[in-house]
Amino acid sequence: MRTARRWTRFFRPRPDLPPRAELLSLAEETGSAVAVLDPEGRTLELGAGAASLLGWDHETSVGEVLAQRLHHADRDRVVGAITAVATGERDRLVGLHARVRRADGSWLELEMGVSNRLGDPSVRGLMLTLRDVTAQLSATAELQTSLEQQAGVAQLGRRALEGADPTLLALEAVSILKKTLRVDGVELYRHVANEELMLLETALGPTRELAGLITIDADEQVPEVTAIAERKTVVVDDLPDDARFSAPPHLRAGGPHSMLSVPVTGPHRPYGALSVHSIQRRVFTPDDTVFVQSIANALGLALDRRRAEEETLHRAFHDALTGLPNRTLFVHRLQRTVERLGPHASTVGVFVVDLDHFKVINDSLGHELGDALLIEVTQRIRDSVRPGDMVARLGGDEFALLCEDVSSIQRIDSIADRVAESLDAPIEIAGRAIHVTASIGVALPSSPDATAASLLRDADIALYQAKDRGRGGHALFDETHRMRAVNRLETESELRRAVPAGELRVHYQPTVEIRTGRTTGAEALVRWKHPSRGMIRPTEFIPIAEQTDLIDRVGRWVLEQACQQLAEWSRDPATRHLTVAVNLSARQLCLPDLTAEVELVLGRLGIEPSRLCLEITESALMVDLDRAIGAVRDLKALGLGIAVDDFGTGYSSLSYLTRLPVDVVKIDRSFVSAIAHDHQDRAITRSIVDLAHSLDLTVVAEGVENAAQLALLAEMGCDLAQGYYLARPDVAEAIDLHPGSVTGHASG
Ligand code: C2E
Ligand code: MG
Ligand code: MG
Repeated sequence: MRTARRWTRFFRPRPDLPPRAELLSLAEETGSAVAVLDPEGRTLELGAGAASLLGWDHETSVGEVLAQRLHHADRDRVVGAITAVATGERDRLVGLHARVRRADGSWLELEMGVSNRLGDPSVRGLMLTLRDVTAQLSATAELQTSLEQQAGVAQLGRRALEGADPTLLALEAVSILKKTLRVDGVELYRHVANEELMLLETALGPTRELAGLITIDADEQVPEVTAIAERKTVVVDDLPDDARFSAPPHLRAGGPHSMLSVPVTGPHRPYGALSVHSIQRRVFTPDDTVFVQSIANALGLALDRRRAEEETLHRAFHDALTGLPNRTLFVHRLQRTVERLGPHASTVGVFVVDLDHFKVINDSLGHELGDALLIEVTQRIRDSVRPGDMVARLGGDEFALLCEDVSSIQRIDSIADRVAESLDAPIEIAGRAIHVTASIGVALPSSPDATAASLLRDADIALYQAKDRGRGGHALFDETHRMRAVNRLETESELRRAVPAGELRVHYQPTVEIRTGRTTGAEALVRWKHPSRGMIRPTEFIPIAEQTDLIDRVGRWVLEQACQQLAEWSRDPATRHLTVAVNLSARQLCLPDLTAEVELVLGRLGIEPSRLCLEITESALMVDLDRAIGAVRDLKALGLGIAVDDFGTGYSSLSYLTRLPVDVVKIDRSFVSAIAHDHQDRAITRSIVDLAHSLDLTVVAEGVENAAQLALLAEMGCDLAQGYYLARPDVAEAIDLHPGSVTGHASG
């Protein structure tokens, strides 16, 4: 027989052995390891090759159930195959893969075959062939792992570029790492709290449940901290014996033996660290490092992309300086609120808050400090409203509030008052105390078709109204405001034309020495002779001019006129002693060349500087007291007189007077009109006079309208008086420069 011949050619018969053993030894000469099992899987015979392959001892392993030495994951499958062959269900099975534990504890990958030789008298059992495929499999497995890893990195990178949610990507990243590196745990840490802490953000393995709960201090000697601090990979093979590093505190109990940590950085800033660990000792290879770093990079890209997107989105709807919602977002939110509340929207209050004289403040501080001021103002406004109220910056010095439950006038007042009060305390900027006030316009939906745009426009109109009434107040929009707003726009454009058209006039109101009744001078008060509206008072157009550059032109023009008048009076011995007072606005006070300009006019007209007095209102001075002190000093250096106008209306503190080099204090008309019947106002007026005298200042009482007032002022020792009782303002040619004695009658 051909087959028999071949067998005899290759296999030496072993008559010394029992038939089964002989067969096995023959079989093993072909290079296979062979064993014989009984139908229950117990070892009946173990070939020498099999014994050495498995490291098993022939004596002890005979009678043992083979399946017990298999990896538990493979056990059922192999037992099933053996049973199928033993019961004759299958004749033979080949290509069975299973892991078997060797005597030394290591695992062996085997490829097995089983055939039923129960009927073969020389075997009487199941014939098992074993082949060691460990090396072959691990090469395949390595290739497989590396392919999986590459795919994982590619997939993560692609998803990152697509802008996938970073939280999801982080989860994907840790699971790819855990699966393909076959590590025990993976952890992603994020820097928080100005990089002093690292938060365990996502984890798989023993710390999975701790994600979001655990932080590590930045001074811990753990691989993660160094990875991020030094932007490098940290590999520790033997944590228990490592001199530099230990495992993070929450992992120490689990006793990881080896760790690999890489930084997660984006193009802009470090994000955190990604870490894998193995409980058994493991040497992480350079390939492992490259892989973990690639995953970390993909993650960093995703996080950075998301951050950039969030930033862009945030920028589009927020103000860069203060971080507040901007006009776009405010309008959007307001519109949504009005729509959401529908018929109940009538309690939605829109407050537009505008800082008074901000331009002056900004010019005087410079933009950088002006910005710092705005930031402080933002903080104060924010603190003064309730958490649910929206605060936005509409632009420049304009803020807006959205309050949903404004159901009464009292509520409007209390909101506006709280905002105003929050600005009461001076703001310290670069060692200067800046006083800021704000005017507030309020609007509520008055009809069902109110929109965000109409509400904002109404609040704006109310704001102008508030400004006109004097700064620092608030006004609620009503229909008449709209008409006024229209007027105001007209007024502004007409005023622009009025200056060159010669429609402005200067009237003069005499100032009288109370003790003697002598006229000491006159105050220049501007008037506008409108072609159709008649004579317009400055209270109607100066506030409008003050909000634009118009005030500079008007102011310059009045100064020129007043000085020409002074020059004219100088030529007549009867009027040579008279002084002229000119009002300055807050904005003019901040013009850098104001002093030079005044000097030029005085020089050109040959006027003795001491005969010109500049009046500055208390509130204009207080906008920026330090700056005002500087400007006043410069003006005084020319030899001019300086008066504080409307004294007593702005600030209860009189102490600033000691710091201001002024000559004259003009007590506001509101006190004077009340002194005859109001005790308190009389007491205040008296103390103002006393204080001014103690500082060597001249006191002028404004708005004296009757003899009783004048008599009281005389009794208080007030120096000078102005008022309709003494003389009304009029053109220079018409005014009475000799209004007679203090007990005389009111003129004109
Ligand atoms: P002011 O400087 O306090 O001027 C006094 C105001 O009181 C003047 O009003 C004057 O006409 C008015 N007045 C005087 N005596 C009496 C009185 O007995 N009873 C009453 N009820 N009123 C009296 P006017 O002219 O309407 O000016 C108002 C304000 O406009 C001034 O207040 C001043 O702050 C401002 N102003 C006037 N002219 C100019 C100017 O050329 N430049 C600037 N920046 N402001 C000006
Ligand atoms: Mg005045
Ligand atoms: Mg005044």
